[in-house]
Amino acid sequence: MTLYVIFILLPIVLGIWAQIQVHSKYARWSKVASKGHITGAEAASAVMEQAGIQNVSIVSIEGELTDHYDPVRRQLALSKANYYGTSLAALGVAAHEAGHAIQHKQAYAPLRWRSALIPVTNVACQLLPWVIFGGLFLNFFGMVKLAVWIYLILAIFQLVTLPVEFDASARAKKILVDLSIVDHQEARGVCETLDAAALTYVAAFIASLGHFLYYLGLARNND
Ligand SMILES: [Zn+2]
Repeated sequence: MTLYVIFILLPIVLGIWAQIQVHSKYARWSKVASKGHITGAEAASAVMEQAGIQNVSIVSIEGELTDHYDPVRRQLALSKANYYGTSLAALGVAAHEAGHAIQHKQAYAPLRWRSALIPVTNVACQLLPWVIFGGLFLNFFGMVKLAVWIYLILAIFQLVTLPVEFDASARAKKILVDLSIVDHQEARGVCETLDAAALTYVAAFIASLGHFLYYLGLARNND
């Protein structure tokens, strides 16, 4: 019971808290317009241009915080609020995604490791519902051992994701100031938004690691 609280419940609470943080910081800083009135799309374009990237298109997509960089299509997808918005939050998110495009161009090692892990991680994600279902009849068909492997894969994937995300945010913060898109005072809004987003990745890693350790303990007890 205690182990369940420490390894499963506490990380879940941490994850919920991180989600609340990212939404409240984003809500706060998306109300503060930058003095330069540059949109997220313009900022992403400027950041990529400075890095010598010309073959990546910037598109606007539906949803909130659905922003991402697609290395296969070489497309930087920004949610409408961040594409057209001039807020400090919009600039931060847009420059962060541009940071991923720069990592791609420079063949940044953790990004390559992360891409290599995607196929096996997808398989693990597809097996996950079966393990949760099987969990109702614990150790039925060796579900506990399968859970150990699945959460190990997820934890490794999320561990490799951390440097990718932290590096993209560090690049975003620096380049926005270097290009004078935001001043030092405004950088605070950018930093708070991106740091809150980074927290959700840390929480996701801790959750997978917690599940892995919990099921590892169960598997050892059953042997
Ligand atoms: Zn990212």
